[in-house]
Amino acid sequence: MSGPISPHGGDLVDLLLSGPEAEDAADQAARYPNLAMGPREVADFEMLATGALSPLAGFMVEKDYRSVIDDMRLASGLVWSIPITLSVDDEGLKRIGRAEAVTLTLGDDPAALLDVEQVYRRDREVEAQAVFQTTDRSHPGVAALDRAGDWLLGGRVRALRLPMHDTFVEHRRTPAETRAAFAELGWRRVVGFQTRNPVHRAHEYIQKCALEIVDGLLLHPLVGETKEDDVPADVRMRCYQVLLDGYYPKDRVLLSVFPAAMRYAGPKEAIFHALVRKNYGCTHFIVGRDHAGVGDFYGTFDAQKIFARFESEELGITPLMFEHAFWCHRCEGMATPKICPHGDEDRLILSGTKVREMLRNGERPPPEFSRSEVADILIEAMSS
Ligand SMILES: [Zn+2]
Repeated sequence: MSGPISPHGGDLVDLLLSGPEAEDAADQAARYPNLAMGPREVADFEMLATGALSPLAGFMVEKDYRSVIDDMRLASGLVWSIPITLSVDDEGLKRIGRAEAVTLTLGDDPAALLDVEQVYRRDREVEAQAVFQTTDRSHPGVAALDRAGDWLLGGRVRALRLPMHDTFVEHRRTPAETRAAFAELGWRRVVGFQTRNPVHRAHEYIQKCALEIVDGLLLHPLVGETKEDDVPADVRMRCYQVLLDGYYPKDRVLLSVFPAAMRYAGPKEAIFHALVRKNYGCTHFIVGRDHAGVGDFYGTFDAQKIFARFESEELGITPLMFEHAFWCHRCEGMATPKICPHGDEDRLILSGTKVREMLRNGERPPPEFSRSEVADILIEAMSS
């Protein structure tokens, strides 16, 4: 395995069949009942198939599901914080009957076989409370859980093909591909940055602080399903590109997209995001304030504190924790409370709401808050 760090659990999983095995599975696929995957399940399937979710080799059976919910570990004891499940409703379950396998479809085409090991009932309330720390339906993760079927199919996945994408094609890399890229670049210490937002000066500062102590940055924006009021992925990608072109050394950053859907699970998703980036070959992972949070469901630093519940060797990847960054007029530079002794009156602090309002009005936030090139892309996107 190339790359600077072992995958979670030791081996990078590859579920994509080839040769006679693939032909055989394609024949079988025609015989089994079909189950159409939704956008979230497609994202999980793609990550399973390519090893991004190593050591998982399929959708969770009940003992792993329970163990993840209760203890943040797989039944094997390995740290894992988010259930990876395949739902089916009553009607679907009736259709599947006692089939030993189902054919998972993308659109109308078979994409994979799921060898059904177990059918079990989702424990909706317990899962919501464990993963999202709430059962409030206004939480987007709880709402998504609410829409999912009552039953879960657990078992190994055999992939016939990966989802096809017509967006960000040049930025799609599997874990094997990012690992190969790091090896070629000679990066031995790589920091991963998860984002679902445009990168403003605060994020740039944090990334560059991390970059001062490692060899390279994997800028890894999530492009799977997000909630409606998040900035669309194509707009964000243009922001990242213009920022990298203007302000980052070319040979120190790899921009690649992360196909996952957003769960908004705060602390538990921070652990998940870190472990998955380990599979992509990152040795370090940036955890900012309110990572993967939404509304005020989580405390500002909960997603950092949760890392202390594990031994560092259990995680493998090293979290780099950052406080809120801002421009300080007295320091005349970007800073955080850890290095700036001044008060809020000297700091440029704008709420997300205020920034969105400025952009909607066609107004650039101050250059100390947002690079003008980034602001212009957001202004244009908001006006169209
Ligand atoms: Zn200061």
